[in-house]
Amino acid sequence: MVKPFVPQLVYVEPGALEYSLGRELVAKFREMGIEIRKTTSHNQIRNLPGENDFQRYRIAKSTLVVGVRKTLKFDTSKPSAEYAIPFVTGCMGHCHYCYLQTTMGSKPYIRTYVNIDDIFDAAENYMKERAPEITRFEASCTSDVVGVDHLTHTLKKAIEFFGESKYGKLRFVTKFAHVDHLLNAKHNGRTRFRFSMNDDYIIKNFEPGTSSQDDRIEAAKKVAEAGYPLGFIIAPIYLHDGWKEGYREMFEKLEAQLPKTATKDLTFELIQHRFTKPAKRVIEKNYPMTKLELDESKRKWKWGRYGIGKYVYIDEEQEDIKNTLGNYIKTYFPEAKLEYFT
Ligand code: SF4
Repeated sequence: MVKPFVPQLVYVEPGALEYSLGRELVAKFREMGIEIRKTTSHNQIRNLPGENDFQRYRIAKSTLVVGVRKTLKFDTSKPSAEYAIPFVTGCMGHCHYCYLQTTMGSKPYIRTYVNIDDIFDAAENYMKERAPEITRFEASCTSDVVGVDHLTHTLKKAIEFFGESKYGKLRFVTKFAHVDHLLNAKHNGRTRFRFSMNDDYIIKNFEPGTSSQDDRIEAAKKVAEAGYPLGFIIAPIYLHDGWKEGYREMFEKLEAQLPKTATKDLTFELIQHRFTKPAKRVIEKNYPMTKLELDESKRKWKWGRYGIGKYVYIDEEQEDIKNTLGNYIKTYFPEAKLEYFT
């Protein structure tokens, strides 16, 4: 089992000490014997240990910055929610295809924000603007928020905040199984707890540092038993020898393990593997031994956001994915909702 994340190094922004959570975290890390450094701002972090980029990248991904979120304007987050709510940025996982490799560039350390009441106030204003429409907030656009929450309990507070709200709902997705502290949160059914799930071959080969398939399924079972609405994002759907069998086994295991009550309000989101040229360069630099297939000539080019083209599977393969996984969902979870395939 992948152990819950413990940072190797902690940086603290001075402003963070004005918040009780900031002070609590510093005391906790001191007690754990972790080296704590001061920094005026996370932008000033330049002297991370490590002899080369490869080492510094790995150390940065196990470095935690305790900071204050200054921008309280939320990004939009289509298609699964109206807004992205920022509690954490960065992640300790090492998924070869992670989008954070390109979005976080040379600053891949993890930042956790301690001014959570400011973030809740901003969310409240967004909800007021849209009321009586429901506003959905996505908490995992820039991180795997569950991966660090056993230390901060920020997500737990957010689940309870939205549990009491009238017009807000929360959702997030994780590849980590460290969910025990979230099981007794008063969610009131207003948080959709999603797991990123994949076939065993893909998790084993491309998602080092995250929880195994079995551990994620076990965690999903606990979450369902705690009464949360549950969901799975199957992503990235990646074609390899035996993929149909691999995904069938995954659905079989899920069906065998999940409590029947969970399957009535269950959602699936399907996202095929894609890459951009800049992402390919970063992946090859950070994970030079990867077996990930990134051959543009085998893919279809598609316009992406910001004008950067992405490479997706060709039409016949996309059809095959949709039909195969769509049929598995119908067979194993006939009451579940397939939200989208992209
Ligand atoms: Fe990226 Fe998610 Fe993997 Fe973390 S768990 S490295 S956020 S893909």
